[in-house]
Amino acid sequence: MSVLDKFKLDGQVAIVTGGASGLGKAMGKGLAEAGAHLVIADINLALAQETAAEFETETGNKALACKVDVTSQQDVSQMVAEVMETFGRIDILFNNAGINEHVKFEDMPYDRWVKNMDVNINSMVLVSQEVGKVMIKQQKGSIINTSSMSGIIVNTPQPQAAYNTSKGAVIMFTKSLASEWAEHGIRVNTIAPGYMKTELTKDYFAQGGDMIDTWMKFTPLGRPGVPEELQGAALYLASDASSFVTGSVVTIDGGYTAL
Ligand code: NAD
Repeated sequence: MSVLDKFKLDGQVAIVTGGASGLGKAMGKGLAEAGAHLVIADINLALAQETAAEFETETGNKALACKVDVTSQQDVSQMVAEVMETFGRIDILFNNAGINEHVKFEDMPYDRWVKNMDVNINSMVLVSQEVGKVMIKQQKGSIINTSSMSGIIVNTPQPQAAYNTSKGAVIMFTKSLASEWAEHGIRVNTIAPGYMKTELTKDYFAQGGDMIDTWMKFTPLGRPGVPEELQGAALYLASDASSFVTGSVVTIDGGYTAL
């Protein structure tokens, strides 16, 4: 098999949570271009349907839009049932949905803290357990979790203790699951992006000012990333090209964490 063949995902089925926009959409598109059928699992059904239609037109592979709040166990198990009914297998799970808030810790209401944890880390528990039942039966699967460089370093100057804490948990969750599920042929890795231009960050970039200047000053490449710059790593981790990779953190941050 040639090295390029190892990146092919022909006929495989990939679920991407938060796949309707931003990083999830771009990484999902990369998997679809490599041959995978995609499940766009997002709380925003209209946008998920738009994205699914775009993928089908552009790649010729199937794309299914599912309305899922990843913090709801009921939504998650319904989604997995629908995917199994439609495709009969799940090869790749991308736990990617996430939220971010800039709030001083002393002003952070506890329910907002819990919401951040629910969307950014507890959702990965719900979705991985449900999809894991399928992957364990298959004795094969690749799970990729979107963490952040915020799980490794503390970003400045914005106050975002909840976000940083949740992303640190994603990294440790990834390593723990990689260790537990290796015996089932399931690999688990995480991509830790730096500052990327998406819906999540567009207002910050639009405002500009000291915060953005600081972000760019500490990014050696001197610019934010664009979502398509994560596609190569996503495809690598999803495919057999990374067959000996599990429990790894792939940092894609323009050099931010090198400083
Ligand atoms: P985004 O806001 O553009 O996209 C997030 C997607 O998740 C949206 O489609 C949204 O509808 C969906 N979503 C939100 N809550 C959901 C829920 N409860 N259930 C299902 N879907 C839900 O954000 P993005 O920038 O593409 O971020 C994607 C991931 O990347 C997040 O985990 C984020 O923390 C992480 N990340 C982003 C950056 C960045 O600079 N943009 C950097 C590092 C990590």
